[in-house]
Amino acid sequence: MPLRKSWVESANSPETEFPLNNLPYGVFSAGQRNHHCGVAIGDSILDVTALEDAHMLRPSGDAKVFDSGNWNAFMELGPEVWGRFRNQLVGLLGESADSFIRDGCRVALVAMTDATMHMPFKVAEFTDFYAGRHHATNVGTMFRGAENALPPNWLHIPIGYNGRASSVVVSGTDIRRPWGQLKSPDHAAPAFLPCRRFDIELEIGAIVGKRSDGPVSVASADEMIFGYVLLNDWSARDIQAWEYQPLGPFQSKATATSISPWIVTRAALDPFRTSTPPREVPLLPHLHEPGPMLYDIPLEVSLQPRGAAKASVIAKTNYAEMYYSAAQQLAHHTTAGSPMNVGDLLGSGTISGAGRHERGSLLELSWGGKEPFTLDTGETRSFVEDGDTLTLRGAAQGDGYRVGFGECSGTVIAALDASDLPYPTMKDA
Ligand code: CA
Repeated sequence: MPLRKSWVESANSPETEFPLNNLPYGVFSAGQRNHHCGVAIGDSILDVTALEDAHMLRPSGDAKVFDSGNWNAFMELGPEVWGRFRNQLVGLLGESADSFIRDGCRVALVAMTDATMHMPFKVAEFTDFYAGRHHATNVGTMFRGAENALPPNWLHIPIGYNGRASSVVVSGTDIRRPWGQLKSPDHAAPAFLPCRRFDIELEIGAIVGKRSDGPVSVASADEMIFGYVLLNDWSARDIQAWEYQPLGPFQSKATATSISPWIVTRAALDPFRTSTPPREVPLLPHLHEPGPMLYDIPLEVSLQPRGAAKASVIAKTNYAEMYYSAAQQLAHHTTAGSPMNVGDLLGSGTISGAGRHERGSLLELSWGGKEPFTLDTGETRSFVEDGDTLTLRGAAQGDGYRVGFGECSGTVIAALDASDLPYPTMKDA
C-alpha cells in the first residue's frame, strides 16, 4: 500500500511517523483542552473529543465516548466500530476532504509541540511474557550456562507472569531507582539497598480491546487486539536474581513500565504482518497460528546521560524476532479459563536479535556487567545510571511512508534517601 495523502501537509513527509496510513490514538492536554482524546496526523493532533462535542464524530451514535480522558469507552464499542471510525478519520483528513470538512477539522488541530501526552488508556491488568528467543537464550546462558539456556518448557509455551497495572506509566514519566533486597557477593546475608543493576527491557505491548470469557483460539485472539504500544519494562536485575525462584519476578518488575503515548492500531500495522520464525519443535494445536500475526517493526534503543548533547543508539532490532506473537500469547492466556478484559496489556517480552548490538536490555548488551559498552560520549555503561534517559523508538517502513509509535522515554532519578524510608536500612547501621 502506498502513502495515503492528507491535506495536513506534514503528514505526507516520508519522515513522519504519523501519515494518514497510521492514525494512532492518544490522550493529550494543551491550553484549555484537558485530557482530550486525540489522533496523531503529521506534526499535529486531531482533537476528537472536540469533534465529538461538535457532532462531527459520534462513533457510538448517541452517548459520548471521548469525554472520559481515555480510549477505553471507544474500545468497548468493538471491532466493527473501530473500522468504521478509522474510515471516518480518513474521510476527514484525506486529501479528498472538502473545504467545509477541512475548516471543521482545522479548529480541532493542535500542534504536537504544544501538547502534553498522558496515558492513552486505563490499564485493566498487565501481563508480561518472555517470548524473545535470543533474549531468553542470552539470559539463560548468563544465569544457568549455555547447555541449560532455554528452560525445557520454552519452545512449547509462551512463558509469562501477571504484573501490576498500577505501575504502568506514560513516556516522559521519571523513573525512581528502587530499593530492594539484594544478595550481593560481599554479604553473607542479603542487604536492603538501592538497586545497583537497574535495566530496561525493549518490548511491544498489545492492548486487548474485546472481552473474552473462556478459551479463545489464536485467530480470535488476533481480532481481540485493539492496538500496540512501545513498552519499556524497567527491571532491577539484582533484586530479580535473589527473588525470582521459584515463583518468578516480583519486586524487580514493580517499579515502573513505560509505554509510548500513541496506540498504533492493528489496522494500521496490517500491511506489515509477518510470520513467526520456523518452529524448532511442533506446537500443540491451541497455539497454531492460522496466518501471519507478528509484525515487521524495526526498533531501536538510545541512552542519553544527564548533560550529554545527544543520545547514543545502543541497540537496533525488530519485533519480528519474537518466537510467539501477541495473538498466541493472548490465546494461551485464556486456556485455563481466565477472562480477558478491555484494557488488558500484554508485554511481548524483551526483543533481542542475534547480533551483539541487537540486544534489548543492558543486561545482555554488557553481558551481565562483564563487558561494559561505550557510548558516543566515550562514557561506558553496564547498567542504567542516575540521570540517564532511555528512549525506545519503533516505526514500520512502508513504501514511501512510516508507521511509528512516537518515543517511549524515561529518565532514571536517584533512589529515595535512606532517611525518607519508613524503616531502618543497612546504610544506617
Ligand atoms: Ca519484561
